[in-house]
Amino acid sequence: MKELTRKRILVTGGAGFLGSHLCERLVTQGHDVLCVDNFYTGTKDNIAHLLDCANFELMRHDVTFPLYVEVDEIYNLACPASPVHYQQDPVQTTKTSVHGAINMLGLAKRVKAKIFQASTSEVYGDARVHPQTENYWGNVNPIGPRSCYDEGKRCAETLFMDYRRQHGLDIRIARIFNTYGPRMHPADGRVVSNFMMQALENRPLTVYGDGSQTRSFCYVDDIIDAFVRLMNLPSDPGCPVNLGNPCEVSMLEIAQRTKAITGSSSPIEFRPLPVDDPCRRQPDISLATRLIGWTPHTSLEHGLRETARYFTSVIGAARTAAAVATHA
Ligand code: NAD
Ligand code: UDP
Ligand code: UDP
Repeated sequence: MKELTRKRILVTGGAGFLGSHLCERLVTQGHDVLCVDNFYTGTKDNIAHLLDCANFELMRHDVTFPLYVEVDEIYNLACPASPVHYQQDPVQTTKTSVHGAINMLGLAKRVKAKIFQASTSEVYGDARVHPQTENYWGNVNPIGPRSCYDEGKRCAETLFMDYRRQHGLDIRIARIFNTYGPRMHPADGRVVSNFMMQALENRPLTVYGDGSQTRSFCYVDDIIDAFVRLMNLPSDPGCPVNLGNPCEVSMLEIAQRTKAITGSSSPIEFRPLPVDDPCRRQPDISLATRLIGWTPHTSLEHGLRETARYFTSVIGAARTAAAVATHA
């Protein structure tokens, strides 16, 4: 890559699900990528294939502590994302969102880097407006079990906007809606990973509530396209941008599709709905389409098939490792 277009890019949370795909994309484009992760939910396996690349570097570091490096762009993705993971140590979740944002913004300010924040549709909470547009302020319980994540991300958005207003930082805030695909953590408790693992291991699929609640699922390759386009937009859009796939489905439908794709005969079992679980979620992505000319193009069918292929390989690798250990 020409020196003029080659950038030094920091990806925090780069060993996680989305971060590893983003690192891969940026390395392939020829940029110098610094992946920073404390491996709280991410794994080295996710980025093992990049470790030999001359333009990729891995640093174990917790973003709640200051970081002094020289970069041109920062993608701030560090934060556990699944309800099971972020509720495991809720205080650390808030610290990661808030202290992590302050440190990365301080870094961006010092080195004059462009900075991207992985925010979330959770800032809308149990939305009263449907589909959700960026100007909706949300309906978030500030003291419930999800609030460490929701309010942490809301505070991070506040910090990003204030660093922009107060210090003139060039910021990009992406409100990411549910994303799925290869490298999701098999035990993160999210619906797609749970259903895939349950279906492939012939265990019952656990539908919470009556399964009528909806989400809109975006395939990982599509969301990574959007991240890079938003970062490369010549000027700061000045407001958060929804990124996701507007194709809205119920959890019961996801369970049925997963069974069909994996050919599983697992039964569906109904379990209690978690506290504060949003009823409906669907992004209005007209702003993203207007600003960055983006719409997701991967069908749910294709995305789920790719995801099933990944989880099949994960289960195969675990069985092989267990067999080797037994015979050792
Ligand atoms: P993930 O859990 O796979 O990745 C998060 C990464 O951050 C992990 O590698 C983890 O080890 C790392 N991390 C956590 N705390 C850290 C800390 N204090 N210091 C350094 N690293 C730390 O989750 P993901 O799905 O890849 O999500 C990535 C980002 O995107 C998160 O900020 C999440 O909130 C956001 N997001 C994801 C989704 C989604 O559907 N996947 C939706 C909305 C927002
Ligand atoms: N910071 C960092 N790397 C840098 C510059 C700053 O991690 O290269 C952290 C540092 O811990 C600081 C925070 O970012 O506390 C916020 O920085 P800022 O300059 O905004 O504020 P201040 O230094 O006055 O607290
Ligand atoms: N869900 C479910 N069964 C599971 C895991 C999740 O029915 O095994 C439901 C969950 O209650 C929620 C939806 O699926 O309504 C999406 O959950 P996930 O944790 O994937 O994401 P989020 O709630 O953060 O959107």
